Amino acid sequence: MTNDNVLIVGAGPVGLSAAAELVNAGIDVTVLEAGEKLSTESRASTFHPPTLDMLDGLGAAKPLIAQGLIASSLQYRTHGKGVIAQFDFGDVADLTAHPYRVQSEQFKLTRILLDSLQQKPNFRIEFGAEVEGVEQDAHGVSARVQVNGKTDVRKGAWLLGADGARSKVRRSLDIEFEGFTWPERFLVLSTPYDFKARFPDLVSVNYVAAPQDWYFLLKIPNMWRVMFPVDANVSDETAVLPEFGQTQLARIVEGERFEIAHSTLYRVHQRVAKTFRSGRAFLAGDAAHINNPLGGMGMNGGIHDALNFAEKLLAVIGGKKDEKELDRYDLQRRQVTIEVVQRQTIQNKKDLEAKTEADQAEFRDRLRRIAADHAESRQYLERVGMIASLRRAAEIA
Ligand SMILES: Cc1cc2nc3c(=O)[nH]c(=O)nc-3n(C[C@H](O)[C@H](O)[C@H](O)COP(=O)(O)OP(=O)(O)OC[C@H]3O[C@@H](n4cnc5c(N)ncnc54)[C@H](O)[C@@H]3O)c2cc1C
Repeated sequence: MTNDNVLIVGAGPVGLSAAAELVNAGIDVTVLEAGEKLSTESRASTFHPPTLDMLDGLGAAKPLIAQGLIASSLQYRTHGKGVIAQFDFGDVADLTAHPYRVQSEQFKLTRILLDSLQQKPNFRIEFGAEVEGVEQDAHGVSARVQVNGKTDVRKGAWLLGADGARSKVRRSLDIEFEGFTWPERFLVLSTPYDFKARFPDLVSVNYVAAPQDWYFLLKIPNMWRVMFPVDANVSDETAVLPEFGQTQLARIVEGERFEIAHSTLYRVHQRVAKTFRSGRAFLAGDAAHINNPLGGMGMNGGIHDALNFAEKLLAVIGGKKDEKELDRYDLQRRQVTIEVVQRQTIQNKKDLEAKTEADQAEFRDRLRRIAADHAESRQYLERVGMIASLRRAAEIA
């Protein structure tokens, strides 16, 4: 045990991944979570190969895979015209112990991590503890927290803000969240409808290009998740109506009525915090960066932040590195977020929604060329599977 206790704000996938790595190394960790329990929201459902490698180190990959679905390939399609190209993660099997994506809801991961953390004496979690602000001096950080309607203070040597996109930690540290918001919103519908029976060549991950009405079809256990853009002219009230969802789904299979088990409408942003470090306080996950969900990189990038942060903090606490090492967390993770994750997710959207037939044709030709060349398709999988972004981060001194 050490006096270098760490406060983590937020019990999402990012906060709990950081907690698991630090707690396993013997550090005292307290997680402050505003909710009364872990979130049950249906959000991320994609885990990329290197994220699974990391979660394996935390003992979480096997139970996650057991509750999820292995997707060994991904496909790009044109609406109404079938497959453009298919990529198989087996092509990068020499680079990862998990040459596939796992489709499983993020709330399964947070439960797996918390169950294991709660067996450790150096871990504490406070639910119903909403952090309102953060102050610090040269020796530590204080978090002002609302518990049972009263303001209290929790102290730590270090603090990680993993409190999501509206991060109060980020605001309290006065760190700008630079970027933009897309005019359209995204509608995610979950349905047990058997798309595979209708389109037998579907795989578990399918991105479908079409000017204006692109969509993706992702298989999760017992359900398909279908995501559509919703035009800025359509009001929120209209977009959440069951009939609106039916109309969107009927574009995929005409004349069909669908059971819609779950529906989420949300606004989409591309934003990155101006810095991921302010003295003894750090940002990770959605608190530090948000992007559109095309490619499933948000939560994955956040878990990569969590492990990078924990590794550097452990080196500092263990006396192997001085505190300057912590600047490398900001340098590495912020740079790859901008260079790779932001760029790739914006490109993914641009490709699927290309407005002219010439641009759609350029996208199809590019993908087919990549898929036909083994070396290029390996590089492509490294990029979309987030292997390349981790390699790039490690290169940044
Ligand atoms: C519909 C949808 C689909 C998505 N699909 C994917 C995908 O397939 N792959 C992918 O990688 N990403 C995806 N994402 C993004 C992904 O959900 C987020 O990147 C991920 O949840 C970020 O995790 P986090 O731990 O940083 O933040 P969160 O999951 O937002 O967790 C933050 C936690 O902090 C708590 N909190 C907030 N404020 C405070 C406070 N002041 N004090 C204390 N606690 C606080 C919250 O209650 C919450 O528990 C998707 C997002 C959406 C909306």
